[in-house]
Formats: sequence, C-alpha cells, structure tokens
Amino acid sequence: MSTAVVVGAGPNGLAAAVTLAQHGVAVTVLEAADEIGGGTRSSEAIMPGLLHDHCSAIHPMAVGSPFLSGLDPARYGLEWRWPQVDCAHPLDDGSAGVLYRSVEQTAAGLGRDGGRWRALFAGPVARFDALNDGIMGPLLRLPHHPLALARFGAPTVLPASALARWFHTPQARALFIGVAAHAFRPLHYPMTSAIGLGILTAGHRHGWAVAAGGSQAIADAMVAALTELDGVIETGVPVESAAQLPPADVTLFDLAPEAVARILGDRLPRRVARAYRRFRRGPGAFKVDFAVEGGVPWTNADARLAGTVHLAGTAGELAATERDVHARRMPERPFVLVGQQYLADPQRSVGDIHPVWSYAHVPHGYTGDATAAIIAQIERFAPGFRDRVVGQTVRTTTDLAAHNANFVGGDIMTGAKDLRQLTFGPRVTLSPYDTGIPGTYICSAATPPGPGAHGMCGANAARLALRHLQLAR
Ligand SMILES: Cc1cc2nc3c(=O)[nH]c(=O)nc-3n(C[C@H](O)[C@H](O)[C@H](O)COP(=O)(O)OP(=O)(O)OC[C@H]3O[C@@H](n4cnc5c(N)ncnc54)[C@H](O)[C@@H]3O)c2cc1C
Repeated sequence: MSTAVVVGAGPNGLAAAVTLAQHGVAVTVLEAADEIGGGTRSSEAIMPGLLHDHCSAIHPMAVGSPFLSGLDPARYGLEWRWPQVDCAHPLDDGSAGVLYRSVEQTAAGLGRDGGRWRALFAGPVARFDALNDGIMGPLLRLPHHPLALARFGAPTVLPASALARWFHTPQARALFIGVAAHAFRPLHYPMTSAIGLGILTAGHRHGWAVAAGGSQAIADAMVAALTELDGVIETGVPVESAAQLPPADVTLFDLAPEAVARILGDRLPRRVARAYRRFRRGPGAFKVDFAVEGGVPWTNADARLAGTVHLAGTAGELAATERDVHARRMPERPFVLVGQQYLADPQRSVGDIHPVWSYAHVPHGYTGDATAAIIAQIERFAPGFRDRVVGQTVRTTTDLAAHNANFVGGDIMTGAKDLRQLTFGPRVTLSPYDTGIPGTYICSAATPPGPGAHGMCGANAARLALRHLQLAR
C-alpha cells in the first residue's frame, strides 16, 4: 500500500489527503494547531452559542469546486445556505450597488449599467460549468490551454479601475471594484480584474453561500470523508524540519513556500529554494468579530439583507485606499468587508444578538490597531452601529499569523497575487505544485487556483502525486 504524509490540515491539505485516500493511499496528516481546518475554522469566541468564522466566511468558489461537489458534501454534514442578497456596496447617499445570484436581477437593479453588467457576465456564467475545471487548475496549461486567460475573455487582463470606469453609475463601478479588491492589489495594475471576474462569475453561477453551522463544517466534512477512508490526522504537531517527517512515498505541504523552503532546506533544488524564499507577500488583514444586538442598522435596505457588505465609498476612494495599503500606509478609511452569515444561517445567533464578521485591508505586518477605523467605516453607512455592539474580539495581523503560520504578516491570501504569482504560483513553472523533489509537492493557497476554501490546490497536487505513484493517469 502506498503511503502519504500531508503537512497542514487547511482545506487544501485535507482535500489532498482525501483525494489520495480515495485512491487507496494510506494518509497521515500532521497539523500544527490543536484544531483542524486552518482558514476554515469557527468558534463561539464572544459568548456561548454565538458562532463566528475565524477566517473564510463566504464561499462562491467552494460551492462549485469540483473536489467538494464530487465529495457528496451533504453526506458528510456540509450544507450550503444563501442570503437573499449576495453582496451590497453602499455609498454615502444611501444608495448601493447590489449583487444577486441572478445576473438578470443584478442587471435590473443597476439602471443604465444593467446592459453592461449583462454583457460582461451572462456569457461566462452560461459557460461556467464547462470552464470550471480549467478555472480551478493552473492558469497556464499545455497543451490544452496555452493561454487559459481567454476563459473569461479579454477583460481579465484589464486593471480593475479601468474596467470599473466602463460602467456609468457610481453604484455599478463600486460593486465591481469592491469584488475586484479581494485581490489585495493596487487596482490600477494590469490583470487586477481577473480575481473579481472569477468571484463574480462563480457567484452568479453558485451564489455567495455560507456553510450551515459555520465554515468549520467545510473542514469537518473533509475530515469525516478522510476518517471513513482510514486516514489519520495528528494535531499539535508543528513540522519544523524534514527530519520530523515520517517516511512516506509522497509528501504534500499545505504550507507557504517560505515554510517549505525552511523545512526541506538543501534537499530542494537550488532554483526552487531561491524562488520559495523570495516569494512575495501581500498586504494584511485586521479582523474584528462583533456581537451585535438587533443586527447592523444599515441605512441602505439591501445591505440589511446582504451576506456580505463592502465598505469603502466610491470606486475612486477604494482604489486610493488599496494603493495606500500596498505602499504600507494605513489609510484613514480602509476597505472593510462585513459578513452577516447569520442572515442565511440563523442558528449562529443567540436570540436577537447576531455575530458580525469584519476585516479591513491594512499594510503587510501592520502593528497598529484598526478597530476604531473598522467601527467608523461601519458607522458611516450604519449610524447607531456602535451602540448595538455588546461584545467584540480582535485579531491583528500578528494574531492571524500566530493562529496560522501561512498568513505571514496578516497576508490571508497566502502570497501577493501579482501578475507572476497569480499566473504561475510560487515559481515560474508549468507545474506549480512540483517542488522539484520527485514525490514532494506544495498544495497551499500559494498555488493555483489560489485562496479560498475550495480545496482545489490540494486536489490538483494530489492528482500529480497519484500519477507519481502510478495510481492515476
Ligand atoms: C480573515 C480571513 C477571511 C477570509 N475570507 C474568506 C472567504 O470569505 N472565503 C474564502 O473562500 N476564503 C477566505 N479566506 C481565505 C481562506 O481561509 C484561505 O485561502 C484558505 O484557508 C487556504 O487554505 P489552505 O489549505 O491553503 O491553507 P490554510 O487554511 O492556511 O491551512 C494551512 C494549515 O497548515 C497548518 N500549518 C502551518 N504551518 C505548519 C507547520 N509548520 N506544520 C504543521 N502544520 C502547519 C496551519 O495551522 C493550517 O491549519 C479568508 C481568510 C482569512 C484569514
């Protein structure tokens, strides 16, 4: 029987482990933390019964993930829930750009930009299922997809600011650029439209779903599947050196490239070690979870129904704050993302007290306290919010990295998604999961298709490992 060791029990490590176990490989997962799940954990952090997601909250990419949907997730307790409104981006005049799962409904709400929204998304959404396998793999693949960016067409190469200006109304511009800003990049840079277009297209196909009972349910479903296949998970085992690794036919790292370089040392080919050590990091996140009596009193009515609310003001304002953050300047009014998962999944609340998830984009390794800036941004679009807060917990960039070593400096994307790293992953190669050591792979969100709780980096790397073991073609 072939054997595998997977280091890291985030969604990608677990997906790799399940994929290998499904092919009869005996898998052991080693996890540094005491709990499994990495960026898909949830807990009652403020008061008993009030359920908060530590990291991932909203899952447009996970619902249609070929790995997760192939798992029959409901059998393992993973069920998706959808809010009435996917995302709202309120403006100071009380209006908002409003995103629904339906392209038509979204277009209908965008006035004279409705036609342009339809023109941008109706085609890719209709073709989404056919494209999904390609989208969820390495961006560049030979020989079938020599330039797979063509999957979404020409707009992916545009700076998000330029594509936003194609819309006429401040609402449509803000709605688009707010989603594009998930890339954590200066939005006037080329290809910063790609991640936004990917999330929006996946969202129009599958909705901005939350996991019933918290994002932890995603990890728990993978653990249940792995356990059924006799996989073993050891928690509280931080792997610091190759000497700690049990012998195995294949080894997969759900870790950041810098950590893989540290652990494997001079076993790595020199060119790979150099690339991993020079891996570029993106800005940080500063997270605050709130317990809010009566929910957030948004001025805009659609924001009161939205699973996600993007707070930044206009497209121009958001572009300016993202530029600041990239230049390591803390903006006075940062981009704040608010999650109201309880609207789709009411079991997370305690009576009229609701868990509200939020984080701000801040400079990499930011050492200040962004709590007041986050509260002020929410208060700007929901006057009276402050008075409804009955509890809160804060995770600084340092706390995020301590909670999960992959999030260096609070970089929750596991690396800057610049042109090179977005296209290739941690090094320039057509085989991004390969470490250059036969049978040893990297499978974290540093590799394609990148961040999210979809498990596809792990599943793709595991397929390579299975080929190495001659258990798959
Ligand atoms: C605040 C925040 C908000 C987010 N929002 C969303 C969202 O709404 N939707 C979404 O899809 N994604 C979101 N993400 C991103 C998502 O959580 C990550 O992209 C995803 O978890 C990456 O999965 P992974 O398996 O690659 O790695 P991780 O989830 O980072 O897991 C890596 C695991 O490896 C372990 N590990 C690290 N070093 C070692 C070591 N040396 N030895 C052993 N184990 C080790 C860690 O403890 C961890 O368990 C968010 C993240 C954060 C932090």
